Amino acid sequence: MMEQFRYESGQLLCEGMAVDALAAEYGTPLYIYSKAALLGRFESIRKAFAEAAPVIAFSVKSCSNIGILKILQEAGSGFDIVSGGELARVLRAGGDPRKVVFAGVAKSDDEIRDALDNDILMLNVESEAELDNIQNIAAEMGTVAPVALRLNPDVDARTNAKTTTGKKENKFGIDLMTASRIIKNIALSPNIRLLGVDIHLGSPVNSTGPYTEALNKLADFIRDHRSPRSQLEYLDIGGGFGLLYRDETVPSFQEYADAVLPFVKKTGCKLILEPGRSIAGNSAILVSQVRYLKDNGTKHFTIIDAGMNDLIRPAMYDSYHFIWPTKSNRTPPSHLFGAADAPEYIAREAADAAAGGGREMQPDGLILTDVVGPICESSDAFAKGRRLPLVNRGQNLAIFSAGAYGFAMSSQYNSRPRPAEVLVDGDTVKVLRRRETVEDLMLGEEL
Ligand SMILES: *Cc1c(COP(=O)(O)O)cnc(C)c1O
Repeated sequence: MMEQFRYESGQLLCEGMAVDALAAEYGTPLYIYSKAALLGRFESIRKAFAEAAPVIAFSVKSCSNIGILKILQEAGSGFDIVSGGELARVLRAGGDPRKVVFAGVAKSDDEIRDALDNDILMLNVESEAELDNIQNIAAEMGTVAPVALRLNPDVDARTNAKTTTGKKENKFGIDLMTASRIIKNIALSPNIRLLGVDIHLGSPVNSTGPYTEALNKLADFIRDHRSPRSQLEYLDIGGGFGLLYRDETVPSFQEYADAVLPFVKKTGCKLILEPGRSIAGNSAILVSQVRYLKDNGTKHFTIIDAGMNDLIRPAMYDSYHFIWPTKSNRTPPSHLFGAADAPEYIAREAADAAAGGGREMQPDGLILTDVVGPICESSDAFAKGRRLPLVNRGQNLAIFSAGAYGFAMSSQYNSRPRPAEVLVDGDTVKVLRRRETVEDLMLGEEL
């Protein structure tokens, strides 16, 4: 349930601000973040894992605006980065490099040098070849590189095939046999300091089972591979904690913590977490204006001014985002609003899809419609066969749960300037990123 996005007197508010007023002032499509929602989630994960006093390394790739990073940094967050560009963002936001961990299968020499120069907490190494390269670079620089080995525990995260990362067939991490050999030979790498091990299973992982399964393997691995040359003092369990988009059963942070903390105790390790989606996801909405309505005799389309370039998750992962007009007198039928009729609403979608759709006005006053964008691709749809109140051209729709992998994955495809991002804090608003202009589109190009 969301407190910071709620309907009052028939209009959607973000904290103390009317969403329609923000849309009128800053234009659409528009990303609107709630500072209280963001910080609330951060505090909630910190509280759940408090016993282990973890380094919480927010996953920059999930939401990389430096204004957002600054808020989290001020709340005590560290950062999980996957590129030199992300390190630059963290430093610009005032982030502490001593709380930065760096993952990624293809780190460049420059990125490795930059990370060592900035004295980050550790590089999470994904292959033997990468470790050799880091050893060589650290030797050249006359320094010792702090690393963790990213282990691939061969555990099924039971999530979307495109976002599962901890199975043997995925490109991520090092299998346990190879990792074992690397650790035994660690003396051959005098410029490496092995600080620990890390995993990241996938995203979202909507149950605690995969963590337990992986940590069982890791606890044994850590016990068997501790030595003066490899103290393995850090255990980094990655991110992947679930988020409520539709009707998922998502463990609370406390439930994840209850599953994980016994292993932390058993290994005696310091804990690192890398949450992204679970912190940022429900801290923002994407607001989009209805441009046209179209009925082709078989189907009804609600054509909006946001496209897959602004929010690619539905097109890329078939993701579900709840959508509702910013003006509405009924409680939106979504679990996000704790609505009693949410299960029924969702069940009817499934029934409609099975019946091949339709377009008639429904007895409950909702119309069955596809919500689509302006991009010249059939995959440019935010929802297919969704029941929405009948809206008029010019009205706004809110696309919920857009804070993670939303703007961060946006592009200028179809030469569309990207939306503005604004932050609401109580009854004040701040532009975190101005809307791009047509000039921005051609920046760096030459005739
Ligand atoms: C993407 C990623 C995360 C964050 O995943 P979420 O599901 O957003 O929490 C954490 N760690 C690594 C290594 C990642 O690649």
